[in-house]
Amino acid sequence: CGIVGYIGELDAKEILLKGLEKLEYRGYDSAGIAVRHEDGVTIFKEKGRIADLREAVDEDVATNTGIGHTRWATHGVPNRLNAHPHQSASGRFTLVHNGVIENYHLLQKTYLKGIPMKSDTDTEVIVQLVELFVKDGLETADAFRKTLSLLHGSYALALLDAEVADTIFVAKNKSPLLVGVGEGFNVVASDAMAMLQVTDQFVELHDKEVVIVHKGSVQISKLDGTHVERAPYTAELDM
Ligand code: GLU
Repeated sequence: CGIVGYIGELDAKEILLKGLEKLEYRGYDSAGIAVRHEDGVTIFKEKGRIADLREAVDEDVATNTGIGHTRWATHGVPNRLNAHPHQSASGRFTLVHNGVIENYHLLQKTYLKGIPMKSDTDTEVIVQLVELFVKDGLETADAFRKTLSLLHGSYALALLDAEVADTIFVAKNKSPLLVGVGEGFNVVASDAMAMLQVTDQFVELHDKEVVIVHKGSVQISKLDGTHVERAPYTAELDM
């Protein structure tokens, strides 16, 4: 299972699909991508191979921002509905997640009563919480932080907001995730190998850091908002 993300000038779909193909070796049961464009966010997802996902992707959707996922089901059977990306009730927020949220059931009962769930995954609780806290008046980054502070378990996350252009919100805890930096673009990947196609410069992330990725910048901070400065390293193909 794995995560990829791209934000830049090129066609995000192809970069995401190629990235997911590089992560196939980790094993997965379904895969999906979400791409952001002028009219919002469009999701393509399928049970089965990346090749099947590739078939399902509409080549005509123009986009240079997106996130992608290969799923190894832990909560909810492997099917199209439970495949990632997952969306909030209104469709504004779109999320991919690797890992397990141990307290998802409690969070759902405590905060999300009355919000119909669209899937059987633990993941959906995360994206619904972000939307809830934004509806309560928080900015997306702060709603994301508040959500992270409630989660118990492991996660690598990449989040899109249909109403915020040029941004991927990223965080990890006990699951691998890196940010790759380029000239005029940035990427996200579980494994540098997935994005060596576009850059070999990667920034390591620490648990519970929040990363705001734009095409021209990467801002890392701790959960309490403290700014973190970290230089990229050069990733080498391990063969
Ligand atoms: N727990 C999530 C699910 O079952 C994510 C699994 C994964 O790491 O791919 O959908």
